[in-house]
Amino acid sequence: MDKEALWREIVKSIRECRACPLHKYRTYPVPGEGPLNAMVMLIGEAPGRKEDETGRPFVGAAGKLLDELLLNAGLERSRVFITNVVKCRPPNNRDPTEEEIRACSVHTNRIIELVNPEIIVTLGNHSGRYIMEFLAGKKWVGVTRNRGNVYSLEILGRRREVLPTYHPAAALYNPRLKEELVKDFTRLKDLIDRENHKVKRTLLDYM
Ligand code: URA
Repeated sequence: MDKEALWREIVKSIRECRACPLHKYRTYPVPGEGPLNAMVMLIGEAPGRKEDETGRPFVGAAGKLLDELLLNAGLERSRVFITNVVKCRPPNNRDPTEEEIRACSVHTNRIIELVNPEIIVTLGNHSGRYIMEFLAGKKWVGVTRNRGNVYSLEILGRRREVLPTYHPAAALYNPRLKEELVKDFTRLKDLIDRENHKVKRTLLDYM
């Protein structure tokens, strides 16, 4: 099956999912969006009100800041894949529970395996813990301590570079966090340049 067909199947299984209580509250689930061969995957927490109304990730206030951060770092949103550790909106925007994140991991993992990104950026504590601790078995001390570092980790059958950072929503009213996010996204740009360079060297090796 090609990637597009597999993606349609993942989206269908998310629409039909009843694995945790969140399906009772959703208008639309939010599977994620972006190129199915993206080098970079951004993983957030959970859909908010706007995302629930549209079925698209990061389209509310936090999404506007995310677009700005990407542009600042010279990246277009259309070049990255964006998803969340839970695909349905928790009532009143409360934090997703550990059980909900685990229940949704079936979908999260299928999405990571399908897109197969070289770089994963985790946005916020829940996403950082899920990728670093649950999938890679690396101790997660918390977003404040782990953010801004790049970890090279074995995740779902392949070595990937993981860059944890704050959730953009946390920076909406906190200029200090926004500065840190800007730094981390500049780091992301450097990481992408490094990965692109590696690919070029490998191709040249065969010439
Ligand atoms: N916050 C998230 O974590 N994800 C979204 O899609 C929107 C807001």
